[in-house]
Amino acid sequence: MQFDAELLLLAMAPVFLACIGWEAWHLRRTLPGAQLYSWRDTLCNAALALMQQAADKLAWLAIIPVYAFFYDHYRIYTWQAGWVSFAVLFIAQDLLYYVFHRCSHRVRWLWAAHVVHHSSERMNFSTAFRQSLMYPVAGMWLFWTPLAVLGFPPKQIVAIVLINLGFEFFVHTQAIGKLGWLENVFNTPSIHRVHHARNDRYIDRNYAGVLVIWDRLFGSYVEEDLRDAPVYGIVEPLHTYNPLKATFHEWASMAADFASVRGGRNKLRALFAPPAWAADYHARRAAGSSGARMDSGEYSSEATRAKQDHTAAFQTPRRP
Ligand SMILES: [Zn+2]
Ligand SMILES: [Zn+2]
Repeated sequence: MQFDAELLLLAMAPVFLACIGWEAWHLRRTLPGAQLYSWRDTLCNAALALMQQAADKLAWLAIIPVYAFFYDHYRIYTWQAGWVSFAVLFIAQDLLYYVFHRCSHRVRWLWAAHVVHHSSERMNFSTAFRQSLMYPVAGMWLFWTPLAVLGFPPKQIVAIVLINLGFEFFVHTQAIGKLGWLENVFNTPSIHRVHHARNDRYIDRNYAGVLVIWDRLFGSYVEEDLRDAPVYGIVEPLHTYNPLKATFHEWASMAADFASVRGGRNKLRALFAPPAWAADYHARRAAGSSGARMDSGEYSSEATRAKQDHTAAFQTPRRP
């Protein structure tokens, strides 16, 4: 890598802003009245991006030495710099991104950070900016550690992670339709619109970063159906444009649930079960179930049922 990877996203900022300008102009002409942009939503997204970038700069200072440790002591191969090593790094990181992203939707501890990206009820290029400064705390960086063991130096790992993130900006739009054969290989706007939707048929699907082949291989792919337009946002809506609330609301909710449930197993569920567990728990609390019943084994079996039928559980709205 001949460039300072950490400045990649900053260097691309003019491209990102130009895309947002074009999309807002285009959508106002083609979908008047749809109001796919709002200033408050876009400013919240921009604030979240700046917060996350600042936190990332600090986090890399702590994380890069960890990658260096694994690279120095446990790498299984030493790559010659070139296109072959770049291709292996790119594909390996994209696969690990798929694993990270899927886990982020199925493990509440990781969802607490990732939910920020999904909590807007709009979908446009600025939605890509919605990131969480809590990713380093959640442990996103752990998922890239195998790259150091595979023999890639820390700077290259940081670079490929940022390249992946930069690519993903371009799939956050409603201004571009389906892209033909590209849909078979790459993550596209249509594929990623599905990922941001909370419709029954779309929820927890299409985790791709750059390549959609992982979703197709591992059974998580679903195509956008033009008869079932995506409804964006999360199952328990946020109702705020405050970037701090957007960043920390799920952490606070998780801590409150951890404190309120009884028993070690339920406390572990509060932290690591799928997000549907929390939606189910909140719905039951709001419906007036007694604390004793909810903390009993009966609640545990209900939680298991919720896991098995998490789509149904996801439909359960949280009362304000
Ligand atoms: Zn996601
Ligand atoms: Zn996204």
